[in-house]
Amino acid sequence: MDTAIQYLPGVGPKRAELLGTELGIATVGDLLHLYPFRYIDRSSIQLIANVHPDQAYVQVRATVLKVRIFAKNGAELPADKLKYNMASRLSVLVADQSGEMEMVFFKGIKWQHSRLLPGSSFIFFGKPALFNGRLNMVHPEVDAPDSQTAGVLTGVYTSTEKLKNSGITGKVMLKMVGAALEGVLPGLQETLPEYVLREKGLVPLGFALRQIHFPQDQDALAKATYRLKFEELFLLQLSLLKQKYIRSRSEKGLAMPLVGEAFNACYNALPYALTGAQKRVIREIREDMRSGHQMNRLLQGDVGSGKTMVAVLSALIAVGNGYQACLMAPTEVLAQQHFANVTKYLKPTGVKCALLTGTTTAAARREIHAGLQDGSIGIIIGTHALIEDSVQFRALGLAVVDEQHRFGVEQRARLWNKGSGGIPPHVLVMTATPIPRTLAMTLYGDLDVSVIDEMPPGRKPVQTLCVGENKRHAMHNFIRDQIALGRQAFIVYPLIFESEKLDYKNLELGYEEIVKAFPLPQYKVAIVHGQQSAQEKEFNMSAFVAGRAQILVSTTVIEVGVDVPNASVMVIESAERFGLSQLHQLRGRVGRGAEKSFCILMRGQKVSKESQKRLDLLCATENGFELAEQDMKMRGPGDLEGTMQSGLPVSLNIASLAKDGLILSDARGYAQHILDQDPALEKPVNAVLAAELREDKYVTKDYSQIS
Ligand code: ADP
Ligand code: MG
Repeated sequence: MDTAIQYLPGVGPKRAELLGTELGIATVGDLLHLYPFRYIDRSSIQLIANVHPDQAYVQVRATVLKVRIFAKNGAELPADKLKYNMASRLSVLVADQSGEMEMVFFKGIKWQHSRLLPGSSFIFFGKPALFNGRLNMVHPEVDAPDSQTAGVLTGVYTSTEKLKNSGITGKVMLKMVGAALEGVLPGLQETLPEYVLREKGLVPLGFALRQIHFPQDQDALAKATYRLKFEELFLLQLSLLKQKYIRSRSEKGLAMPLVGEAFNACYNALPYALTGAQKRVIREIREDMRSGHQMNRLLQGDVGSGKTMVAVLSALIAVGNGYQACLMAPTEVLAQQHFANVTKYLKPTGVKCALLTGTTTAAARREIHAGLQDGSIGIIIGTHALIEDSVQFRALGLAVVDEQHRFGVEQRARLWNKGSGGIPPHVLVMTATPIPRTLAMTLYGDLDVSVIDEMPPGRKPVQTLCVGENKRHAMHNFIRDQIALGRQAFIVYPLIFESEKLDYKNLELGYEEIVKAFPLPQYKVAIVHGQQSAQEKEFNMSAFVAGRAQILVSTTVIEVGVDVPNASVMVIESAERFGLSQLHQLRGRVGRGAEKSFCILMRGQKVSKESQKRLDLLCATENGFELAEQDMKMRGPGDLEGTMQSGLPVSLNIASLAKDGLILSDARGYAQHILDQDPALEKPVNAVLAAELREDKYVTKDYSQIS
């Protein structure tokens, strides 16, 4: 497996270099782990009359009728005085009992000419095309009429122009892979323990490798594919879980054994019952906080699922154990909103809460600094201002970070260092960006993930519709009706960075249009965008939050968290230019009050099929996780918003996070089961696994440092 590819029979230094640069293949093992991306069924032979130029590949059995050779200038060369060095094209007319077609060769003319003799029969295999109204095949593979290929299914490998031009065709690839298998199979080391194969019903590695490259039939191929996918996902999860295990043993944490009076006082005074999901998540957090190990938990919950309450109760556990807690929000408005809400919840507890943001006055700031240092402030809420060095805690026990993607890693690390007695605080990161479960398991595989997958009762569904330009008037009228009922409306414009100027022009034109359609003094329209100063932004935003303006025109700055329960309409302009999860976040801004709410997606003139599919999906469901799953299926996991910068810890060869969720869950559960019994993989039966994990490919980035 580790032999350099150049020493494989039929490869040599030149091809080895090409395989390396084009496909990243350095060793025999690399070649064997490059699996066909699809298979061609060569078991069936078609009648020429049934061949259609749209077919990917066909195979016909036909007899040569006529062979002609042409020069570059198109003139036919005489058959008797043939000069091959003048030949540029070989045309072979063939026929079966149903019809005729032409086989064309631009290379290897002499060789093909010598064997494709009129009257003899062959099997031709290739891509059919229509040329000058006539069916043909360029460079078909030619085999004896009774030839049987190794299997009925022939693998097709990724290739590049360069490889093809250097003669590394599909056939050559198959030959090399065949040679590699011959060399490797006799001494092949199984990579999974025998008991794993048995318990999971997996075929042995040797069988899997042979069948994935040269399947004898569909059934064997399916078994091989399953084995290789399982192995890939299983080893990845095993590695992630093992890292998590090691970290949880080594990272000391603040032990918080009590629930505390403050928690109970708050809990008993809640105006509503917690949802089952909220209760479950709080239990998970409580377990972490009293374990004596540092909590590093990601809390996922759709917009409006009630994450704030979970944060407050967690903070009160810290306070109940003599520690302090901080809650960090990405914007001033959000911090203020959190502060207003949290203060309400804290009334029955007597716990002191303060707000620290960029606009806090120097005097207030001094007071807060003092309160944090002497411990009289139990919970502090704020923006980035919280991580400044001047902010010192008496005993910080829990840091909650809302909407984690807005914070840089470095900023989070600074929070981390504000812990008590050299021990880092517990960390809870909250995000409303739903990540499909399979992706979360892999991206945050070494973190703990809690999910609030249940909405508080009484949330009104948001009716979503997608309309074109011809409905713009109707849309304005609809907003007027809603405003007449006392409601408010958001109108959001996309911001695409490549053409920022143009985007602002769109926004400004849009604003003018809205102001014209909704004139003073009856209507007030506020506008918020990224080019405004912080004060301007705050001023306009609060005008809308307080209800002084009925319409807020903005870019996506309002995406995160703002709560305006009175807003019942969300209009999204050029909706096709937003990603699915972003659209979903925006929609989550309405439907928070008692009234029925609406989301209107304004569609542009030219919308691709795929974009339309996204918009349709959004109209069809309000479940953020379902949307995220669908989005991943449509676009592939690598593309998923918000996850791009983090990337996957390893590249998967055969398994797909989008399509193999079931195998992944099974593999993860099984990996956990094995680690429960042998956490360090020290038992002899697991020696193979321990060796596999030592391979470089499973060394992942340290996601534990996200907080
Ligand atoms: P998000 O998860 O988006 O941060 P919030 O914490 O802001 O959601 O909660 C959304 C709204 O739902 C708030 O007005 C909150 O008071 C309310 N809420 C939270 N939990 C419940 C519950 N269990 N029952 C009823 N309403 C709830
Ligand atoms: Mg929130």
